[in-house]
Amino acid sequence: MKITIIGTGYVGLVTGACLAEIGNDVFCLDVDQRKIDILNSGGVPIHEPGLQEMIARTRAHGRITFSTDVKASVEHGDVQFIAVGTPPDEDGSADLQYVLEAARNIGRYSNGFKVIVDKSTVPVGTAERVRAVVASELEARGLAVGMTHGFSVVSNPEFLKEGAAVDDFMRPDRIVIGIDDDAAGQIAREKMKRLYAPFNRNHERTLYMDVRSAEFTKYAANAMLATRISFMNEMSNLADRVGADIEQVRRGIGSDPRIGYHFLYAGVGYGGSCFPKDVQALVRTAGENGQNLRILEAVEAVNHDQKEVLVEKIVKRLGADLTGRTFAVWGLAFKPNTDDMREAPSRRLIAALLARGAHVRAYDPVAIEEARRVFALDFADAPEALARLAFVTTQDETLVGADALVIVTEWKEFKSPDFAHLKSVLKTPVIFDGRNLYEPLAMAELGIDYYAIGRPYVQ
Ligand code: NAD
Repeated sequence: MKITIIGTGYVGLVTGACLAEIGNDVFCLDVDQRKIDILNSGGVPIHEPGLQEMIARTRAHGRITFSTDVKASVEHGDVQFIAVGTPPDEDGSADLQYVLEAARNIGRYSNGFKVIVDKSTVPVGTAERVRAVVASELEARGLAVGMTHGFSVVSNPEFLKEGAAVDDFMRPDRIVIGIDDDAAGQIAREKMKRLYAPFNRNHERTLYMDVRSAEFTKYAANAMLATRISFMNEMSNLADRVGADIEQVRRGIGSDPRIGYHFLYAGVGYGGSCFPKDVQALVRTAGENGQNLRILEAVEAVNHDQKEVLVEKIVKRLGADLTGRTFAVWGLAFKPNTDDMREAPSRRLIAALLARGAHVRAYDPVAIEEARRVFALDFADAPEALARLAFVTTQDETLVGADALVIVTEWKEFKSPDFAHLKSVLKTPVIFDGRNLYEPLAMAELGIDYYAIGRPYVQ
């Protein structure tokens, strides 16, 4: 099938590459010339396991193209995926300007029947706004909306996880498709069915529903996941106070199948481009509809405070003034296997350490370049503080002479370091672990002062 993907970010690029991998003819459009240049010179602008190889393969077979040519992109695809960003507006609602611009372009250059697929995460009712924009552009061109220049707007939210995006797209738990119950909707349904057939070979994973329910499903899913995280974080803070071990509690409750083990880890709060903005947007949607989402308001507030918990532990141990102290920081990306720094807890933590006068030496396996960029922006007005932040290229380099190690992201390579070596190169053997990677008792036996989240301190 001929597919156009609008937006070559984490979602668009993975969607485009995976659909090309199974044989489709994919045209990827972006307005960002830099990204398109990188892609056309054989690079990949983001880190996502397996993506580079897949793009190289499909390019070699001529099944994927990257361009900034809007007209050519609209003319190419019978199916047009909108996968542009929907960042939070100042009031927390989703900013739809990029989605509506993509819709405008489709109406402006449409050359036949188009299935327009909202893959971006968009609030309930957005498909109707996309429909109105496309129809008005077609009308401005003097084209009556019929079957020749017709279109149908489909909601097909994406559930992939950064860091495992290719795998998630290729082996989805479910495919949600919201479709209108009219003649154009029927055509769209057939096309979507054909497009996703290879993903449904063993058993049907597609859930067809009305458009509004599909739009809502994405927000409800992220809201539920964010709720589990904030719940466990709040439990971990109580565990700290009452002397319980949140890791044992996690195993104790996860074994109940009604609860399950997934997404039950206490830590330094959720980040990334999705949970924070989607929770905010849903709270906003509820407000506009006369309802308070009290649980989600609390989920957000708990998450905000949780990003300070590690700093509080550091201050309790080392004092409020950290001038002259040096911290080794392991992990910058908001989670492992990605270079995404959006809302990453490391940003708040490092900012707090710098604000208290500390020096920071930070390492991340893939996010250093992106971290350098975002910290330069975050600290544009504070060059003196920024000068106290150094990025180094190995885990080991962070440690030499540091007053403590702080772990922010649970990369696999941080899970089993050489503790004897670590202890010998740190100035003082102290670890503040925001991801509960180690056993408190084992750390005590090694003579390491170990502070985790919701786990007892063992002397
Ligand atoms: P992103 O910021 O990585 O990428 C968006 C891309 O769209 C950018 O490259 C931008 O230049 C491009 N763009 C903007 N306007 C454009 C236009 N008019 N025409 C062509 N390109 C345009 O965003 P992302 O992380 O891929 O997220 C995209 C959407 O998918 C968001 O709504 C997000 O909430 C949702 N989503 C993201 C994830 C994730 O893990 N990142 C998962 C599921 C859903």
